[in-house]
Amino acid sequence: MKIEKVREIYNKPLLKLVYEAATVHRRFHDSGKIKISTLISVKTGECIEDCAYCAQSVHYDTGIKPQEILTVAEVVEKAIKAKESGATRVCLSTSWRNAEGDENIENIIEMAEGVRKLGMDVCCTLGMINKENVAKLLKAGITGYNHNLDTSRNFYPEIITTRTYDDRLETINNLIDAGMPYCSGGIIGMGESNEDRISLLHTVASQKKHPFNFPVNALVPVKGTPLENQPLVSVWEIVRIIAAARILMPETNISLAAGRINMTEEAQALCFLAGANSVFIGEKLLTTANTKIEDDVRLFEVLGLKDRA
Ligand code: SF4
Repeated sequence: MKIEKVREIYNKPLLKLVYEAATVHRRFHDSGKIKISTLISVKTGECIEDCAYCAQSVHYDTGIKPQEILTVAEVVEKAIKAKESGATRVCLSTSWRNAEGDENIENIIEMAEGVRKLGMDVCCTLGMINKENVAKLLKAGITGYNHNLDTSRNFYPEIITTRTYDDRLETINNLIDAGMPYCSGGIIGMGESNEDRISLLHTVASQKKHPFNFPVNALVPVKGTPLENQPLVSVWEIVRIIAAARILMPETNISLAAGRINMTEEAQALCFLAGANSVFIGEKLLTTANTKIEDDVRLFEVLGLKDRA
């Protein structure tokens, strides 16, 4: 795909873009359904990476209390609560640079087995990963792996210096080659330009296989990180990237991920109209605040959205 094509879509007049995205959305998906997932932070904090947006990086003083890896029983307990709130998918997250070490992988597999027994799907986000370990997770019934590209290749060094864009692409390649459905998206509002967003969309949409999920995160500035004073990104920009992603990757689920806490319900509704069909529920998205579950349940009811279990 040529980048000019992505630019042309991205820069359409907003309402025209939303209309086109909504049309594509209805052709490829049931527009009355969304996927409701929850994130469980299995190991929190003390991450050696320096992602400028992240409360869990050891490089910044964010006041986050590090937490050792949870036990299988603790993870299952959290999953039961999430299920009661309507989630049908759990994403197990660790603040690791890499998913490696037999013991660590076995531990995650045990957690996943415990959650799957509840009848829930399990995804993981464990950092960079090689093909061998992807194969182990796949064999254990894990149905997806998240590894975000975050932003464009050009802007990336402004945000992360401890691993490269190519490292990330290598993990995505390992996931694709091993046959693991992957989830990869970005964060907007970090100071990137429209051209950076276009480039991110272009990179993801040009992979040999599209992700099953493209999360759109609006930065929630965290005190103590280099991005603590970033102004909140405008809702129009969130809608625009969602709509463009929907047109470029028609079969992919588009998640309205972090940042819903700073959006009105009307703004969220516009995102769903523009093709977002996946959300994360729970009081926290790892370490940042999220919308209240009861507000989400009410909003989905008002909008006529049901979980796509
Ligand atoms: S985003 Fe992930 S890899 Fe980056 S600092 Fe946070 S926990 Fe570590």
